[in-house]
Amino acid sequence: MRVTRFRGGNQANCYLAIGEKSKKTVIIDPGYNGDSIFKTLQEQQLEPVAIFATHGHFDQVMASKQIQEATGVPFYIHKGDKELLNELPKITRSFSGDLMNVHPAQNVIYFDKEQEFEFDDLFFEIILTPGHTLGSVSYYWPHANSVFCGDVLQAPGGCGRIMDWNFSSTLAMLSSINRILGLPFQTVVYCGHGKRTTVAKEAIFWKREYL
Ligand SMILES: [Zn+2]
Repeated sequence: MRVTRFRGGNQANCYLAIGEKSKKTVIIDPGYNGDSIFKTLQEQQLEPVAIFATHGHFDQVMASKQIQEATGVPFYIHKGDKELLNELPKITRSFSGDLMNVHPAQNVIYFDKEQEFEFDDLFFEIILTPGHTLGSVSYYWPHANSVFCGDVLQAPGGCGRIMDWNFSSTLAMLSSINRILGLPFQTVVYCGHGKRTTVAKEAIFWKREYL
């Protein structure tokens, strides 16, 4: 599995997880960059198989409808963030002064438990990591020593906001951070915002300072 990153507003990250042999591609958190994502899929002759959101905030899902209409792939998100997803038009209108009215993808598959997905040479597990939102999840790729954690962790030593959002929980967040830090130390952590890090680096911050 190789990873391509797109950076959007507020350093929000969208990732493509690409099968080395099959070129099957999972799109994680398409918040911005819809045109660039689609161009990359075409130029590299990738085969998109699904869109997965780590959670339902606008900066993870705004481009999901555009990508889905261009590719026809399903869009997966935890059902705990259904309300956030439904609020997307209202939220995008409110921060853009009515200039934007973005709707979520249509073909949405809601899941509610930990499960595994396999698309040829792509294999990953859904880990439930609520706290930032009710339906926040992480996508763990054990064979690639990688985890896409959304807004659970932000390097170095930070985490997603939990005080000023609806649907957030500090206790759940601490438990979810602990869960990610329980993965093997060499695991590369692809954060929802900013730079990537590793479990080893973040464990030094969190174990010493907080948990
Ligand atoms: Zn968020």
